Amino acid sequence: VTATGQRRSGTSVRLENLSKKFGTTTAVRQANLEIDHGEFMTLLGPSGCGKTTILSMILGILEPSEGHIYFNNQMIDALPMNKRDVGMVFQNYALFPHMTVAKNVGFGLEMRKVPKKEREKRVQEALEMVQLSDFADRFPKELSGGQQQRVALARALVIRPKVLLLDEPLSNLDAKLRKEMRIQLKKLHSELKITTIYVTHDQEEALSLSTKIAVMSNGVIQQIGTPQQIFLRPKNYFVANFIGYANFIEGTLVDEKGGRFLFRSESGKELLVQKDEHHRIGQKVMLTIKPENLRIVDQDAGESSVNVCPGRILVSDYVGSTTEYQIKAEGGDIFKVSVLGLKSYTPGHDVCLYFDPDALIIIDKELKS
Ligand code: ATP
Repeated sequence: VTATGQRRSGTSVRLENLSKKFGTTTAVRQANLEIDHGEFMTLLGPSGCGKTTILSMILGILEPSEGHIYFNNQMIDALPMNKRDVGMVFQNYALFPHMTVAKNVGFGLEMRKVPKKEREKRVQEALEMVQLSDFADRFPKELSGGQQQRVALARALVIRPKVLLLDEPLSNLDAKLRKEMRIQLKKLHSELKITTIYVTHDQEEALSLSTKIAVMSNGVIQQIGTPQQIFLRPKNYFVANFIGYANFIEGTLVDEKGGRFLFRSESGKELLVQKDEHHRIGQKVMLTIKPENLRIVDQDAGESSVNVCPGRILVSDYVGSTTEYQIKAEGGDIFKVSVLGLKSYTPGHDVCLYFDPDALIIIDKELKS
């Protein structure tokens, strides 16, 4: 606890086999997740995958159908919402329109029967944290979107939460403000170190803010890891596709050669790929490679060269700093390639694709279900 009373390190949170059913819909299926003291954990996934449902169960406004929630290894299943010390910022901020900024921020303290003097001090403190001290007497409608968002954040922080839940807090802001607020959030987290669980479908936000990411699909956590682990080592097709790997080849790991796996695609193309400890010879897998890691090389690189495949440019699209190509490879597969700079090939041009063994990643075709 610091001089201003703010907790320096939050609480650890653990979800154990947590499920939520709404009638016949399973919104969350057997979620297991550990969130350390002071961690910034992002739940990343498309609309409807169960992110908000997880937050609602941690907040205590929804009861799990199965499983348990622990704060610092103590089960809190039976603890009512107002005893959980969880602060939440909703997507639409949910400010009270008829109350001033100060009243909005102090509301939670009033509910908790904190004496007036103490309340005023803490409201002041929370407004300072989000740099809105001069706006205490305004009403929400007299504030910009970004300012309203910061009031919502101050209102969550004022109760000195052990855990902070943020449900797409930046989604109503324009692109520029979203970036600014992202930086402010990051700064605030590094100062306060409150255990934070953040919900978004925006991979850039997840990458920039999080210490850990859990990728979700259809109520199921597909992969948990650091931003680097998720973005450089996606485990399955869903995760890879969601974070921007655009090229996928199905086939089998048929052999081992010079410390690498030899992969044979369903159309018979052979590729060397880096080995990893999760896969073995004989396994049916998928290979994936990012458009920016797939390279176009001249035809005279030769068709017989390792990991080179002839193809023809179908589409070339200059989109600012890069040119995006679609290339039809021998065998019929279409690959996406992104190259820095202006276009140097036009549709119809014959080229070769080079699949760098170290940039090819082996993933599982199947999702966790
Ligand atoms: P978004 O990004 O759109 O907010 P989300 O990942 O947060 O989506 P949830 O709001 O958790 O998704 O919803 C998960 C699933 O549960 C969805 O299929 C949704 O329709 C369903 N669901 C959520 N709340 C209820 C409810 N109260 N009654 C019935 N079904 C619900």
